[in-house]
Amino acid sequence: MRSDPGGPWPVPPGGGDPILPHGGEPADATDPALETVRPGQPTPRRTGRVGPGADEGLADPGGGGRRRHELWMRRALEVAVTGPDDGPPAAGDGAVDDVPVGAVLYGPDGTELATGRNERELTGDPTAHAEVLALRRAAGRLGRWRLDGCTLVVTLEPCTMCAGALVLARVSTVVFGAWEPKTGAAGSLWDALRDRRLNHRPEVYGGVLESESAAVLRAFFR
Ligand SMILES: [Zn+2]
Repeated sequence: MRSDPGGPWPVPPGGGDPILPHGGEPADATDPALETVRPGQPTPRRTGRVGPGADEGLADPGGGGRRRHELWMRRALEVAVTGPDDGPPAAGDGAVDDVPVGAVLYGPDGTELATGRNERELTGDPTAHAEVLALRRAAGRLGRWRLDGCTLVVTLEPCTMCAGALVLARVSTVVFGAWEPKTGAAGSLWDALRDRRLNHRPEVYGGVLESESAAVLRAFFR
């Protein structure tokens, strides 16, 4: 439950009142309406953008949690701007012109396991998003694909690919900065991270240092 309704959590992209998931009604995996879902069809009562619904995990983690998330987001912003310690340099120094999105993967004890910066242009790899790179590096470092207990912090709302990868990696918590109304899969266009039909659903905190995160992207596209 949302513990602080007055928190900094933003309205959905585009503004307006948050659209409550499930039409504001509770839902669960045993909901008979979900059995009618077929590929290509919208989930019943889940059409439209899902706002930062208090009951859906986009909640205020409380004072200490929020401060930690903001601290971690500042590190992700640093990675977005300067490039990861364990990867190639960011745009600016070289000819590479990648959209500055940064991600950091933290272990259960808060240890920084890996970082990633969008390298799609640099590597010509359509899957080289910041989140995927951080997941790969962390898994390589730990020697396992399961990253349960870990928290992925990224400056931009994950896309469908990254949301899928985060679920497959069993990441426990996802924290993101700016909302991405065009491609976001953590509440904007889709909510792939918290789909109740999946057997693993990370906790999601959106809009953390949203304005700072958006400013980095705006500066790039200016
Ligand atoms: Zn992505």
